[in-house]
Amino acid sequence: MSKRDYYEVLGVERGASEAELKKAYRRLAMKFHPDRNPDDKDAEDKFKEANEAYEVLSDADKRAAYDRHGHAGVDPQMGGGGFGGGGNFSDVFGDVFSDFFGGGGGGRGGPQRGSDLRYTMELDLEEAVRGTTVSIRVPTLADCKTCKGSGAKKGTSPVTCTTCNGMGQVRMQQGFFAVQQTCPRCHGAGKMVTDPCGDCHGQGRVEEEKTLSVKVPAGVDTGDRIRLSGEGEAGALGGPSGDLYVVVNVRPHPVFQRDGRDLHCEVPISFADAALGGELEVPTLDGRVKLKIPEGTQTSKMFRLRGKGVTPVRGGGVGDLMCRVAVQTPTKLSKRQRELLEELRETLQDEDAAPAKKK
Ligand SMILES: [Zn+2]
Ligand SMILES: [Zn+2]
Repeated sequence: MSKRDYYEVLGVERGASEAELKKAYRRLAMKFHPDRNPDDKDAEDKFKEANEAYEVLSDADKRAAYDRHGHAGVDPQMGGGGFGGGGNFSDVFGDVFSDFFGGGGGGRGGPQRGSDLRYTMELDLEEAVRGTTVSIRVPTLADCKTCKGSGAKKGTSPVTCTTCNGMGQVRMQQGFFAVQQTCPRCHGAGKMVTDPCGDCHGQGRVEEEKTLSVKVPAGVDTGDRIRLSGEGEAGALGGPSGDLYVVVNVRPHPVFQRDGRDLHCEVPISFADAALGGELEVPTLDGRVKLKIPEGTQTSKMFRLRGKGVTPVRGGGVGDLMCRVAVQTPTKLSKRQRELLEELRETLQDEDAAPAKKK
């Protein structure tokens, strides 16, 4: 008995593309697969025939040989049917397999971990430095109160899935593959809702806001994350909940800027204090502290107050408060002040270091 032409077997033109071949083969494999046609010798032969044709035509070298020499050009042993053939088969089989089970490789169904959620928490600098406890409201999925989480309409209850008899798993025989699969009908739940609850559309869960108390440790800074384990989105079908990540954002402060463990601030001083020196009171995050200014201090000079900075949340010791002085030029002078300044200018003009002289 002479063999049928491979292109004819697959029902494609001789110039068919790889994609066309694959598509044609998949269609035939679906149609004549032994599992779908138990005890059908004719279907089994057709399945083997399609398998052999595809094995040859999906291989560029074998296809070229076949195109030139026909069946004589390819090793007759090679395409002997069954599952033992070339590497292309598993590839296509994967696709066919997915079609049978309606899944994308087994990732669907069964318990799933809920998603992680992100929440941005705005804090004042003082709160971030000292630590605090903040109540936040986050959206969450909670059991539907109407159906108590069952997803079934009031007065009805979910019924045992008839496909898996409530097991949530089905055993499928595919050629020599025997696979335990999540039940495609109930997605692993073992039960099916035939009359869904209107409030949750049969999901058994509704979105709600929940209040969480978040303990913020002292020393956090913008960008730090606080992980609340299990406070993320609820898992599906008994899977664990995801985590909630609270991301800190510290609001700008009117006086201080934070730079790691140090704080920076600007201290306005009179030009008399700058010239004569003196003791100033400067603000810190928890009060005031004295700062000695030596005489002859220039504007923008930086003074370091040790230990008046921040202890970072990761530890490593407290930082410093960096005070930059800004010499203030008086703008409203009394008559007396003007006289004194003019007198001062006279004396300064006699010196080398005198500032810009008035002509
Ligand atoms: Zn409900
Ligand atoms: Zn089921």
